[in-house]
Amino acid sequence: MDIKKVGVVGAGTMGNGIAQVFAVAGFEVLLTDISAAALERATNTISGSLDRLIKKDKMTADQKAAAMARISATTEFGALADADLLVEAALENEEFKVKLFGQLDGIAKPEAILASNTSSISISRIAAATKRPEKVIGMHFFNPVPLLELVELVNGLRTAPETYASLEAVVRAIGKSPVKVRNSPGFVVNRMLCPMINEAVFVLAEGVASAEEIDAAMKLGANHPIGPLALCDLIGLDVQLAVMNVLHHSLRESKYRPAPLLVEMVEAGYLGRKTKRGFYSYD
Ligand code: NAD
Repeated sequence: MDIKKVGVVGAGTMGNGIAQVFAVAGFEVLLTDISAAALERATNTISGSLDRLIKKDKMTADQKAAAMARISATTEFGALADADLLVEAALENEEFKVKLFGQLDGIAKPEAILASNTSSISISRIAAATKRPEKVIGMHFFNPVPLLELVELVNGLRTAPETYASLEAVVRAIGKSPVKVRNSPGFVVNRMLCPMINEAVFVLAEGVASAEEIDAAMKLGANHPIGPLALCDLIGLDVQLAVMNVLHHSLRESKYRPAPLLVEMVEAGYLGRKTKRGFYSYD
């Protein structure tokens, strides 16, 4: 399928990065969100991110202007009707996504592919909420989207090989590398990464070491580019908790139980960078 216009649903941490990489690669992008403020924030974030690329001589001012001109932002979801591909990056909640995909199925043109950036939720379950399960696929980007090269392409039980082939070409066209994954809780990366972050929260709560020491240990001892707790702040503690809940409920093993401190911090509203407070403060 010839994909030219991409609708991004949800303009938060991930949605703005996804819109940016598509626009820079020459795709028309329609960025949607229920919140006009989120759309404004996203547009400013993209503009600032492209300014940084100009400063590093990786982009010219003209290229930035052209990329920004390819992005339109709206709270009117009906505008998604002429998109060839929809990439959903809204809340990590199964009931929510099932309902949303039912709605998007009613708006998108019949030949459009519906992709979800879900971190952990079953693509087969999301696909079953639509009348086009063969055109539903997981397109899992990593944070920060403009920097990280991987996109996990997740095949649900009913995803058609043509859908996968179309998105494999799209992933390469935006300069990223696809990895083919079968639908399974947390897919590949989060199945391993999120339990590691969760364990770091247990280590912190048990007083084994401070947040700074835990992060320094994993950077210096395991050669990780960022410590697990700083990474959790970047991901969002609510998103990390949502992934652990999916792993715990679907794989039914106690090793995936969310750390109580993580649960309490989410309850307290300490969600990481996006609320300026997580394991670290960002004021
Ligand atoms: P976020 O909280 O930063 O942003 C979510 C956005 O969705 C908000 O702007 C919100 O207004 C919007 N939204 C809520 N309801 C909506 C609706 N009905 N229609 C359209 N927009 C709606 O979340 P995020 O971190 O960007 O995560 C988005 C998705 O991407 C989740 O499924 C998450 O699991 C996944 N993901 C997140 C990360 C990460 O590191 N944060 C990485 C990979 C995948």
